[in-house]
Amino acid sequence: MTDIKYEDYGFQTRAVHTGNDIDKETGAIRRPITMANSYSLPYDPTDLNWSSADGNSIYTRNGGANQKYLQEKLSSLEGGEDCVVLATGVAALSGMFFALLNSGDHVIFSDVTYIAVYRLLNELFNKKFKVETTIVDSSDLKAVRAAVRPNTKLIHIETPGNPTLKISDIRAIADIAHENGALLSVDNTFASPFNQRPVELGADLCVESLTKYINGHGDAMGGAVIGEREIIDQIRSQAMVNLGGAISPFNAWLIMRGAVTLPLRMRQHNENAIKTAEYLESLECVSFVAYPGLKSHRLHETAKNQMTNGFGGVLSFALKADHDTHNKFVSHLKVITSAVSLGHDESLIVFLGEDDERQYLYPEEFHSGFFRFSVGLEDVEDIIGDIRQALEKCMLL
Ligand SMILES: *Cc1c(COP(=O)(O)O)cnc(C)c1O
Repeated sequence: MTDIKYEDYGFQTRAVHTGNDIDKETGAIRRPITMANSYSLPYDPTDLNWSSADGNSIYTRNGGANQKYLQEKLSSLEGGEDCVVLATGVAALSGMFFALLNSGDHVIFSDVTYIAVYRLLNELFNKKFKVETTIVDSSDLKAVRAAVRPNTKLIHIETPGNPTLKISDIRAIADIAHENGALLSVDNTFASPFNQRPVELGADLCVESLTKYINGHGDAMGGAVIGEREIIDQIRSQAMVNLGGAISPFNAWLIMRGAVTLPLRMRQHNENAIKTAEYLESLECVSFVAYPGLKSHRLHETAKNQMTNGFGGVLSFALKADHDTHNKFVSHLKVITSAVSLGHDESLIVFLGEDDERQYLYPEEFHSGFFRFSVGLEDVEDIIGDIRQALEKCMLL
């Protein structure tokens, strides 16, 4: 079953089979969960490098069995040579930055990214390690090009971006990075590899929060970086072995199990989200809807060019109403849960208030508070019905 190679089989076949195999000891057709910290040593262990992550299992922080199976599956789904899985999406992002950036290097990153990226680069890496940072509107290719310096080592983007759903052109930014001897990393969490594969589009590195769509069931955290073996090995040894952000074997197993149904779930997320976005856009009481699948999205064409199967399950919107009415609306929801995170089976909504310190980087319509809505796998009629009855209770319909 491990012979299910990227080149020879479709995405769904690889989602089902890659990384699984027959357990040699029991004959079970599922690889077991190996909850072990240590692995048996060779006759003479004195030659071993205790900081190595070369694939020989010694200790789970250097690479355990379930981590390896998951890495096989994710490399295959993202179309990359190798993968490292870590404890969370943020462990993957920080580990990647830690391994790639040195004092004096310059990094360009998008004005719409996961909040931890902003903190890590803009507040920690530049102050602690003298890494130079520039924030750009990554949907503006001229601005990206103009931000490049001779010491630019990395461009980091997120598309669609959290939480404004901004789209950045992966192919074009990969070209800018490569013309200038820099690397491009793309946070692919919102799209998932079913909808978009940054490595195939020219990015050097793809980062995923496995906590979201890839696990998909809201019960395990994880993160991954996918790319060329040489860079991934560097991240593995520096971030996993020496910073210590290893994932637990059980979480790796859960995520592996969740990833099997990624294509099926993403199809439903895509379909439910576009229907919900269209419904919201049709309402007089909604001030804006941001979803890359809508024709009204400023960068819909770019999204269509790089998101081949759909536009994901996350959208943002706001009501033509005051702060408290937004909270009241949420309190009336019965199907949709008020909680952070996204990409779970259930619909999740979060009201992001007016005092986000990065608000100045967002479009005007986001400044007076908005919802980030992760459209789940429920019947879409029930999702839309839930929104309708909550709006009615708020006297908005
Ligand atoms: C959630 C998220 C992360 C962080 O992942 P964790 O698993 O929560 O650490 C990174 N990037 C994006 C786009 C996210 O939505």
